Amino acid sequence: MFAAPVRENNAYEVALENFDLAANALELEDGVRAMIKYPERILSVSVPVRMDSGKIVRFEGYRVQHSTLRGPAKGGIRFHPNVTADEVKALATWMTWKCAVVNIPFGGGKGGVTCNPKALSLHELERLSRRYASAILPLIGPEKDIPAPDVYTTPQIMAWIMDTYSMNVGYPVMGVVTGKPVSLGGSLGRNEATGRGVFYTIVSSCEHLKIQLTGARVVVQGFGNAGSIAAHMLQEAGARVIAVSDTRGGIFHNSGLDIPEVIAFKDRTGSAAGFPAAEPLTPDELLALDCEILVPAALENAITELNARTVKAKVIAEAANGPVTPQADRILESNGQFVIPDILCNAGGVTVSYFEWVQDEQHLFWEAQDVYKRLERVMKTAFAECLKVHVDRKVGMRLAANMVGVGRVAEASRIRGLYP
Ligand code: NAD
Repeated sequence: MFAAPVRENNAYEVALENFDLAANALELEDGVRAMIKYPERILSVSVPVRMDSGKIVRFEGYRVQHSTLRGPAKGGIRFHPNVTADEVKALATWMTWKCAVVNIPFGGGKGGVTCNPKALSLHELERLSRRYASAILPLIGPEKDIPAPDVYTTPQIMAWIMDTYSMNVGYPVMGVVTGKPVSLGGSLGRNEATGRGVFYTIVSSCEHLKIQLTGARVVVQGFGNAGSIAAHMLQEAGARVIAVSDTRGGIFHNSGLDIPEVIAFKDRTGSAAGFPAAEPLTPDELLALDCEILVPAALENAITELNARTVKAKVIAEAANGPVTPQADRILESNGQFVIPDILCNAGGVTVSYFEWVQDEQHLFWEAQDVYKRLERVMKTAFAECLKVHVDRKVGMRLAANMVGVGRVAEASRIRGLYP
């Protein structure tokens, strides 16, 4: 017998479907739905870049503002070969609900360029970043739309975008992007913010589910910025990180990997794969490991209807955006597994981006401990608010988080009087 064909997931369709579920649960009026569901602005740009060879290559780029109802649009810029208009629209939509879930005064936006940054020299990457920045210049600004790093974009790229914007207006504008180097108006604690936020939501989940964090087995798919920092903090809190992976493969050690050692190994070699004090592991084996906490921290669609039944973790903490497909979500939920949805789990990054923007606008910079304390408060409050909806309304955590986010944006829409 043949298995049923797997439905390809269009990220934007998934985003719209999740919105509808939340809007139905909230019994939102049609007029409000029409106001808040779709992107406010979609800009498609052509980015011609002179390569080191002298040849000019054209790349496609996008900037989408999904919502500015609760404040300026906020969201990262992705440089990746798979970037499409639909993906950017989906990510922008998620940003709107994410900013609302953690209750920071931003709407949602996202940008991207379809390119392979790994195949570009540093100078080509700088020219691409600056050309893209000047193409989206009409949309961005500290009071309108504030980009940040996302997959394969870095603090250095944010510095080039800030510089391009500042050259155009004629004075330095720190608050036009976040995720900048600290020497250029970046915030202390921004680099580790997403991983730290993931950690706080896992701690809250374990308290709720009465799982002992000390000794709990943790598996991390995607040992990059978010994944490695969450792994490190979990290990420091007494958990046992038994496996991690990146694009080159996975590693496993039943009594726990030494995370600082793995980070140092990855810094030296470019990958966690091949770490000497561990066994190699395939991507499927990693997801199916017996563990209490699984952290998908790579890209979208890591857990699908094909592998969801093999996942044994009690808690799935979505450090990545959209790592669990809707079909897989239903399987995990019916198995009683607790999913911390992306718009809550990885919101630490945008929260500290907000702190960075506040510091830039005030020209007054905070100490790292202030950033951590405020971040912990924001994440734990947001978690408690989503958990309350999850418990009171007997809905999954994803729907609960979407209800909190969509509900706040709907409320802003009504108060602003845009409807009817
Ligand atoms: P990153 O590039 O630092 O890390 C991603 C890691 O995933 C890399 O180590 C890469 O090798 C690995 N990877 C990619 N595909 C993989 C696969 N198929 N199997 C195993 N590993 C794989 O990126 P990041 O900043 O840590 O972001 C990771 C995810 O978190 C993304 O989905 C991003 O949108 C999301 N996120 C990041 C932030 C942030 O502030 N960094 C904020 C919110 C959400």
